[in-house]
Amino acid sequence: MHHFNYQHGKMFCENVPLDKIAAEIGTPFYCYSNETLMRHYKVFDDAFADVDHLVCFAVKANSNLGLLRELVKAGAGCDIVSGGELFRALKAGCDPKKIVYAGVGKTEEEIEYALNSNVLMFNVESTQELFALDTVAGRLRKKAGVALRVNPDVDPMTHPYISTGLKKNKFGIAIEKALEEYKLAAGLKNIEVIGIHQHIGSQITQVTPFVDAVEKLLAFVDQLNEAGIKIKYIDIGGGLGIPYKDESPPAPVELAKEIVPMLKKHNCTIVFEPGRLIVGNAGVLVTKVLYTKRTEAKGFYIVDAGMNDLVRPTLYQAHQAIQPVLEEVSKRSKSEVDVVGPICETGDFLAKDRILPEFKKGDLMAVMSAGAYGFTMSSNYNSRRRAAEVLVKGDRYHVVRDRETWDDLVRGERFAE
Ligand SMILES: *Cc1c(COP(=O)(O)O)cnc(C)c1O
Repeated sequence: MHHFNYQHGKMFCENVPLDKIAAEIGTPFYCYSNETLMRHYKVFDDAFADVDHLVCFAVKANSNLGLLRELVKAGAGCDIVSGGELFRALKAGCDPKKIVYAGVGKTEEEIEYALNSNVLMFNVESTQELFALDTVAGRLRKKAGVALRVNPDVDPMTHPYISTGLKKNKFGIAIEKALEEYKLAAGLKNIEVIGIHQHIGSQITQVTPFVDAVEKLLAFVDQLNEAGIKIKYIDIGGGLGIPYKDESPPAPVELAKEIVPMLKKHNCTIVFEPGRLIVGNAGVLVTKVLYTKRTEAKGFYIVDAGMNDLVRPTLYQAHQAIQPVLEEVSKRSKSEVDVVGPICETGDFLAKDRILPEFKKGDLMAVMSAGAYGFTMSSNYNSRRRAAEVLVKGDRYHVVRDRETWDDLVRGERFAE
């Protein structure tokens, strides 16, 4: 469900035609629909109304301040994985008591920043991190709220690069070792054990992996209770997928139907960390066809956005649907083509061997479902300026991030002479 639809022969985001934005700010740009964003947040939040819960948006999916601000105003907390994301979450006005901090490699500087900001809890991923946290908290005369990130060894059945809850992954503490670790944590002076955390992967399109993981986690919480370790927060992570092509991932209510009865039995606050689900289909990348060419082997549409703007196709073999901004283009004859960017890499494509209608030089394309892990993974490779970001609200659009300038590209650099 999203708010990118054809009206009067053009693709609109809510009530704004995408070609109008392109004419005014140039291409490429990311365009987000605030209404889609709000709808997804509410659908998720409502699905779990029957349990005491907190929805912490995974900032790494889309960390634009303008967008974070809207989610925070709607009541969302933030799931962060770095000091930089903490900075953004606070700038967006997020209540620190709604911030959870995960990640295998938190530095002492980041830990200090998060302690001084009074975040709700640290999702700790190793013994050494636990000791580091205890030390820094002691130095600051603070108590660190801690959840241990447990690795339940469940296959989320998604792309290997976005699986995180398997034994072979770098994340979390093996569930068999976790009791020992909890006892250790409970004995540390500057640590307050308050929760448990897991996150098994991303773009998960079935309910079963969640059910299996939650089952394992809750059995372990019982074990903790028996050992006298009291848990207040059960954080089950994010990872619910979205339809990019022909997947039909469960809706939040369907997931809720399975796991809420299980979670209800424990008198805890349930923390969720959805990222992709909230923002994935709330954004498109608008790019312009610069040139078209046909080699003996195939046809190419060369567009002004590349893998530096949207890396998912080349990084995860991800499918991003492509639609013309002008509806009439879709009536032209179709052929198999690659949609490629201007970057000097063979991996620089947005779509490969795709049946598309004939786009001509100057036509605009909307790369659909680009709201999550799109801009946040973009780079300056080939010294390309990162794209502008636009947030549409009704019949107005707001440039929530300017396109970078040439000067932005060399900021902080200097000659060595
Ligand atoms: C990436 C991540 C998420 C969000 O995953 P989505 O698939 O975008 O929902 C949540 N929690 C943690 C710890 C993560 O690393």
